[in-house]
Amino acid sequence: MQMKTMHLSCAKPVLTIVLSVSTLLFSCKKEETVTKPQVAEGEIASLTSYLTNQGFKAEDIQFKDGNFIVQNDILISQEDVAVRMKEGDSDVPQTEQWRNQYRVNVNYNNNIKIYIEPSVPAAWKTAVKGAVANWNAVTNTRLAMSIVTTKSAAHTRIFMGSEDANWVARAVLPASNGKPGTTVEINSKFNSMAASQKLFAITHEFGHTVGYLHTDQTNGIFIPGTPSVDAKSVMNSFVLPWAGFTAGDIKAIRLIYPL
Ligand SMILES: [Zn+2]
Repeated sequence: MQMKTMHLSCAKPVLTIVLSVSTLLFSCKKEETVTKPQVAEGEIASLTSYLTNQGFKAEDIQFKDGNFIVQNDILISQEDVAVRMKEGDSDVPQTEQWRNQYRVNVNYNNNIKIYIEPSVPAAWKTAVKGAVANWNAVTNTRLAMSIVTTKSAAHTRIFMGSEDANWVARAVLPASNGKPGTTVEINSKFNSMAASQKLFAITHEFGHTVGYLHTDQTNGIFIPGTPSVDAKSVMNSFVLPWAGFTAGDIKAIRLIYPL
């Protein structure tokens, strides 16, 4: 989820640089001294290729702290990408109107438990509660969420991050185990954003935690029957003032999480 005014992101092809360094090291050092990092970087390169084969653009993929960050705000753990690659595309990604490879399974999808870290500012807490209410207000779907006060009981944890970058918030996709995305991180840089934009942003991030990708991108699994262009969809990449789900959003929710 990004701000519209900051459309052009500064995501650099970090991996390319890492690989070049690795090649350099490899050519001027003994093999045993570089075996370990070389293997790790090789795995990251191979997982990155897998993601590009899934339709994500190489320039939209970053690797940081054990996670792949796609299109600025969608996180997939390194382990999970490895599982995805191993398992193949039996149940491939869908965005809202494209979806992720994995959706939240029936053990969790009618009560996704969300925990808000105490450090989250009140205005963002309000947005989180509003976003839960937004998702719960959609009828004819099994999907439902609730806020819990015990971290250990939660599926999804909301916490604050701080980075001088154009992502407002970012979230983890559901994993191969069928659980919801584990975290939503909010960038404190946008603490003064309007309440209706905060609400839009968190509603959007919950879309990622249940497996929807970006409506304005064309990677993942297209959800048949949803519009190919939906400018007001909550799953577009850019923050708008909250004005409700679009008809396409609702259709996508009901198709992926039917009663
Ligand atoms: Zn997003």
